[in-house]
Amino acid sequence: MKKLLEKAKNTHSLEKEEIIALLKDDAISEDLFQAADEVRAIYVGNDIHLRALIEFSNICKNNCLYCGLREDNKNIKRYRIDEDTIFALAEHASCNMGLKTVVLQSGEDLYFDTDKLCSIIRRIKTLDVALTLSIGEKTLEEYKAYKQAGADRFLLRIETTDKELYAQNDPGMSWEERTECIKNIGISGLEVGSGVLVGLPNQTLESYADDILFFKAINADMIGIGPFIPHPDTPLKNAKGGDLNTALKVMALTRLLLPDINIPATTAMETLAPNGQAKALQSGANVIMPNITLSQYRKHYELYPGKSSTNYTPDQSLTDLKNKIYSLGRTISSDYGFHRK
Ligand code: SAH
Ligand code: SF4
Repeated sequence: MKKLLEKAKNTHSLEKEEIIALLKDDAISEDLFQAADEVRAIYVGNDIHLRALIEFSNICKNNCLYCGLREDNKNIKRYRIDEDTIFALAEHASCNMGLKTVVLQSGEDLYFDTDKLCSIIRRIKTLDVALTLSIGEKTLEEYKAYKQAGADRFLLRIETTDKELYAQNDPGMSWEERTECIKNIGISGLEVGSGVLVGLPNQTLESYADDILFFKAINADMIGIGPFIPHPDTPLKNAKGGDLNTALKVMALTRLLLPDINIPATTAMETLAPNGQAKALQSGANVIMPNITLSQYRKHYELYPGKSSTNYTPDQSLTDLKNKIYSLGRTISSDYGFHRK
């Protein structure tokens, strides 16, 4: 196993069977995390990039089985934040909090058509920030329009590369179309962010190995790995859900094989364990996305339970987060944090 880790550290390439062997061996976890931490330090340094997350609509036309925002969930209060408020939040993130990237995330809400989105993008880009979108599946023309309006990046997880599992969990959607969207994001000139859930029912170690090889094949600029956390108002409410150790292992292997990309310590990791994000930052991650959505909305953006449980304002949380980062011996980036190839 140690030889495999050395190979991954030195060549940044592994065969599928080798990835599976490392995922299977739980005795190797800490060595794997350390190897990923070393590769992270060499390729992207000690800086952590902070991205201000604004969850601007929880309305979604899709029905992903795992997600609390799915259309069939009638137990949540739906909201949309208006353009002026979205801009005011972005302005606060940039001018008062000093954050260099704004991420706009939502369900697939058709109210925000291309014109509305491009108008918001143009306004936010008058601020000194990079802009990321995470708003679901769009056409190539739409991705191009966002890019032209000034957007820089787009996040669209493939969720799983296991086509059968995707078909079961994402009814009415198609794995091929999602892959096409990811390709089109790259063609439009936006940085490509993707990623997967870890711990869906019947998801296998073999499929995680395929996931990691898929990230390489699509030339991803960013990859987010999130443990699946069952939501009580979804068909998967009784599922077991993902565990932190497996999610961290998939993330650490992603760092070893794609050494220079951006990898967030995801909120879902922190939800599973109070030190989940710190552990992720020491196992290959170099990005954190502090949530700056107003709490009156934020409590309704419940992709999974426990996600929004905080009584602190975004400003208080940012101070805590910065102290946590410094205590790990890391620094906070003052640039936009693009993928440096
Ligand atoms: N609607 C957009 C963006 C919002 S959802 C989209 O689907 O791309 C953002 C991510 O939340 C999804 O990609 C999914 O991986 C994650 N997510 C949804 N439900 C979750 C759950 N129960 N546990 C953990 N992550 C979840
Ligand atoms: Fe909608 Fe995204 Fe949730 Fe699927 S994962 S139901 S697309 S918000």
